[in-house]
Amino acid sequence: MKLFLATGNKNKVKEMKEILADTEIEILSQVDIGDLPEVIEDANTFTGNALKKARELGQYTKLPVIADDSGLVVEALDGQPGVYSARFAGEDATAEENNQKLLDSLKEVSSEKRTAYFICAMAFVTSEGEEKVVQGKCEGRIAMEPKGEMGFGYDPLFIVDGYDQTFAQLGADVKNRISHRAYALKKMKKLLVDW
Ligand code: IMP
Repeated sequence: MKLFLATGNKNKVKEMKEILADTEIEILSQVDIGDLPEVIEDANTFTGNALKKARELGQYTKLPVIADDSGLVVEALDGQPGVYSARFAGEDATAEENNQKLLDSLKEVSSEKRTAYFICAMAFVTSEGEEKVVQGKCEGRIAMEPKGEMGFGYDPLFIVDGYDQTFAQLGADVKNRISHRAYALKKMKKLLVDW
């Protein structure tokens, strides 16, 4: 059974292939399909964006598709940056700019009130119109300053519950076991095996 994973991120493709290695499912990605139409992620929920991406790319590839959308939700900021995580500090913002904006926004907020979580919505859509969505969540808090060199995005500022280091200090081995994406992938695997 062939499945298209709608992401240009090689790490996500690798992670998914590893998780599904003991199944009959073969993951195809952008490398196998070639250029794809751009999907505008303009829904106001993570689920909405994941479904939009999966539906549009399913119509294009004629394959069952998995697409995900993730981001950081900070409680003291009423859920921001949320679906705008990639462009919190502006349309083409770098991760450093987004992190700086996050620190500035939380300047007056004490350590105990800096609770936050990463969330990943993952959608599975088939050309027969079957649609399923799973979510994975990873709770923690926002550090007072960036720490660590690994990972990407908000990793240098995210201290995951149960640890006193940021994701950027902990590195991929730990992160890939406990991240929002890892939890969503595990749920998705169960759903795909049943399907
Ligand atoms: P995407 O939907 O996975 O591309 O994530 C959108 C944005 O959310 C990224 O550009 C990051 O800013 C943020 N984000 C999502 N997942 C992570 C993560 O695991 N670590 C750090 N930032 C993340």
